[in-house]
Amino acid sequence: MKERPLLMIPGPVEFEPSVLSALGQPTQSHIDPQFIGVFEGAIKKMREVWHSPSGQPFIVPGTGTLAMEIPAANLVEPEDRVLVVSTGYFGDRYADILSRYTNKVTVLSAPLGGIVETAHIEAELKKSEYRLMTITHVDTSTGVRVDPRPIGKLGHKYGVLTVLDGVCSVAGEELKQDAWELDVVFTASQKAVGVPPGLALVLAGPRAVNRWRKRKSRVPNYYCDWNQWLPVMEAYEAGTPAYFATPAVNHVRALDVSLDNILKEGMEERFQRHRVVGKAFQAGLEALGLKQVPLNKKDRAFTLSAPYYPAGVTGDRLLPQIRRAGVVFAGGLHPEIKKNYFRIGHMGSTCFRDVLASLGALEAALRDCGVSVNPGVSLTAAQSVIVSENSETAV
Ligand SMILES: *Cc1c(COP(=O)(O)O)cnc(C)c1O
Repeated sequence: MKERPLLMIPGPVEFEPSVLSALGQPTQSHIDPQFIGVFEGAIKKMREVWHSPSGQPFIVPGTGTLAMEIPAANLVEPEDRVLVVSTGYFGDRYADILSRYTNKVTVLSAPLGGIVETAHIEAELKKSEYRLMTITHVDTSTGVRVDPRPIGKLGHKYGVLTVLDGVCSVAGEELKQDAWELDVVFTASQKAVGVPPGLALVLAGPRAVNRWRKRKSRVPNYYCDWNQWLPVMEAYEAGTPAYFATPAVNHVRALDVSLDNILKEGMEERFQRHRVVGKAFQAGLEALGLKQVPLNKKDRAFTLSAPYYPAGVTGDRLLPQIRRAGVVFAGGLHPEIKKNYFRIGHMGSTCFRDVLASLGALEAALRDCGVSVNPGVSLTAAQSVIVSENSETAV
């Protein structure tokens, strides 16, 4: 085990042994009655994890980028106006994806590390008739979390479909798709859902599905088309197989196990664990004097942290030292500051032990880079948060 580093990047994350063992089982036929039951279970459990009893789940082989493209391909027609609320790299990627389906894409960009004010979004929705808008719950390039609640409300008020990129949030950050009036929420398997990379997971609410049914033009993307996938999802849920493209049999089995684990923990308990883990880790960063990319504390995600390097330290020096101390962090992603900051994922099964191990490795690596660090200062700060949040029992 000593050779195995602790993986603390914003996806892929550390996976539970039960999930990995499901992945390693002999592959069944995709029409095996036992597998049909597994697929059916995974579909039903997705509704619980997303808090969307009214939604239609789609489990599609692919990554989070495919999950972004699925609503774009199905819900946008060439004359449609769409709005992207961007808080970083993934918002900008969404604008690029949408521009393949319509040339009427407007982007409202937050200042780096900030969010777009709700009033600003409403002013834009008043100006023109939008068909759809996208928001990134947690932008993995900035560590900024957006509150989807007021934006979902606006979508309802103005008759605009709201699509939430939840790739860095679903099953980690608090999320209630139906109650928050979000029409589509998607993620990818390798983030807080806790399954190795390979599945795009999309949940489409009734307003989105109805809008898709009323399309005037054909969905211009063959693989994404819900005409292909909806009959498959409906069949498996009804206990019969159907074929469009081969299901990722082992991944679906692993997903079913992971969703089970998630529901057994309890959604509220899981949100709370992420909240405490995030706050504890970020208190540790503060104690080390590291500035973070999110401008306001309230906008910091609980699923990942994005600290700047201290003066005089570069990623080329620090990250290999952290790796040598047994932990893996990720470098920067946002093009404007890529070389100035790094990222730590703490989602999925991350526990307090991982927080303390990671901060310990960071302290050691900083010292190796010539930064003076009071040994244990970040560990003390993190532990104070854990104690004050009164969650010691979950360690
Ligand atoms: C990781 C991520 C994606 C892209 O997912 P891939 O699996 O890398 O294609 C999209 N959006 C957000 C917010 C992400 O964190």
